[in-house]
Amino acid sequence: METKSESSAAARHYHHCPQCKARLKRVYSKKRERWYWHCPPESGCDAWYADRDGEPVLRPVRRSEPVDGVQCPECGEAMVWVEGGRYGPFWSCSTRRETNCPGVRDCLDPERGAVAGNVSPNCPVDPDHGPMRRRDGVNGVFFGCRKYPDCDATINFEDMITDAEAADGAGV
Ligand SMILES: [Zn+2]
Ligand SMILES: [Zn+2]
Ligand SMILES: [Zn+2]
Repeated sequence: METKSESSAAARHYHHCPQCKARLKRVYSKKRERWYWHCPPESGCDAWYADRDGEPVLRPVRRSEPVDGVQCPECGEAMVWVEGGRYGPFWSCSTRRETNCPGVRDCLDPERGAVAGNVSPNCPVDPDHGPMRRRDGVNGVFFGCRKYPDCDATINFEDMITDAEAADGAGV
């Protein structure tokens, strides 16, 4: 039987938490102006997932505590290690939630990511293409493959960090 909150077409389409199997709720963050999926706290899980076209991205994202000695290339604050993002693990500025600092560092492993200057994701088409080049486009920051025009892979910055924000609980 349908309840009021389940009367929309989107809500009839159920999704379950891959970690605890509870039914996820789609919630809107006014702060982020974006949808997220939340595993109800009463399940003891409280996991958050990013939303992509009305569907949850069912990949758990985990953040470390801020790591001393790994500094944000934009603001100099400590960074956090984020796992589970769609483009692999990366470092993200620990102040991002409060300041919207765009500081990220790519890496396939924490040690490599800590190297100064390595501040972009690797090419998602072929990791051998190496760290992408950060660019400012008319629609905001994005990363383009260094092998362009042989490889036209790009990563939108907002896509890259959406998963990481889901791990923050989105500040809903
Ligand atoms: Zn769960
Ligand atoms: Zn920063
Ligand atoms: Zn490439």
